[in-house]
Amino acid sequence: MIVRARVVVTMDGAPIKNGAVAVSGDRIVDVGKFPEVSARYSGQKIIDLGEQVLLPGLINAHCHLDYTCLRGKIPRQKSFTDWIRAINTEKSKLSPQDYIASIREGFAEAKQFGTTTIANLTAFPKLIRQLPRLPIRTWWFAELIDVRSPSRTNELVDSAIESLKPAQNYGLAPHALFSASKNLYQRCEEAGKDFLLTTHLAESREEMEMFRDGSGPLYEFMENIGRDMGDCGHETALERFLKVRDSSSALHSARNDNDWLVAHLNELTESDFELLEKVKRKFHVVHSPRSHDYFGHSPFQSERLHRLGFNICLGTDSLASNESLSLFAEMRAFQRSEPEISPGKIFEMVTVNPASALRQQNTLGRIRPGFRADLTAIPCRRGRDLFGGIVAFDGEVDWTMVNGRTQSTQSLAADSV
Ligand SMILES: [Zn+2]
Repeated sequence: MIVRARVVVTMDGAPIKNGAVAVSGDRIVDVGKFPEVSARYSGQKIIDLGEQVLLPGLINAHCHLDYTCLRGKIPRQKSFTDWIRAINTEKSKLSPQDYIASIREGFAEAKQFGTTTIANLTAFPKLIRQLPRLPIRTWWFAELIDVRSPSRTNELVDSAIESLKPAQNYGLAPHALFSASKNLYQRCEEAGKDFLLTTHLAESREEMEMFRDGSGPLYEFMENIGRDMGDCGHETALERFLKVRDSSSALHSARNDNDWLVAHLNELTESDFELLEKVKRKFHVVHSPRSHDYFGHSPFQSERLHRLGFNICLGTDSLASNESLSLFAEMRAFQRSEPEISPGKIFEMVTVNPASALRQQNTLGRIRPGFRADLTAIPCRRGRDLFGGIVAFDGEVDWTMVNGRTQSTQSLAADSV
């Protein structure tokens, strides 16, 4: 089939006016001016989207669909530690069926906002088996916490790996240095190069206080639940992470240099930046602008990290600290805090950058022959810079294709990806 639109944004050079994309099966096979593509693929069904901008499907680099049902449930707290207490209280009220409903609702909402790929952390990897038909492309990351049962780390990782088997794309997510042991991080590194890795790091001032100073509300909270606090009071969370990561990778050299997708990095010291400049294995970074605002973290140092060679992506994080799963809203929030970064560069943070973080730089994030047919479309706004108009788009998308199939964005009774 051929999909025609007023403009096609390929992310490969200039956008194409009166453009078209030819799709065969799950792949893009051609892209160019409509008259030329339709001549090359004459006789094919044509979907004319009219006055729309056709975009690569958006990629959410960090999300927890488990908690879609917690939207609006947790008002802003005085501290990050209070928020952890509040979400634990909310979680204790939820059943496995609630989580399944929450995840399904989250998939549907993400798709309504033009997201076609999601990196989703789940604390309940056993539930994946009960979600065989997904409306968008999903990387399932099993989120792992062993702080309450450090003697069962190996069992926890083995069970997560077993639960991930039905998933096509997967990874492991030791939750954070304050909730997951060094042993857990090492076991995740050892799981093999098929497993992508993600974690939360240097998210809050309280995490910095806990690791660097050995004090503060998060320190006390973790100490109270029995965590061994011997790793606190010596170094920043980033220093700790690099040590843990590099000690295990030295043992298991099969890993790629850039396997880690690190969420947050809000709280970094000058010595942390010096370390980041020197570090050879540059990881990927996910920033969640609206969740960042909700917590009131220190300003995210996007330009500085970019200059040091880190690949920066955007993610929504969960609805326990955000209002919606719209990456357009995330781009706008980012633009408010970084007005000097061009809208085109911001759009890369939800397309080509996360594609590369998921090792899909040759299949996702662009409209290019050979790539997966994951597309979305928004109305064309006349008289406005094209990428400025994309970032400003505020609404649900009109049309989406995932893996070569068009589906109503309202429908979950869809094909599997
Ligand atoms: Zn998160």
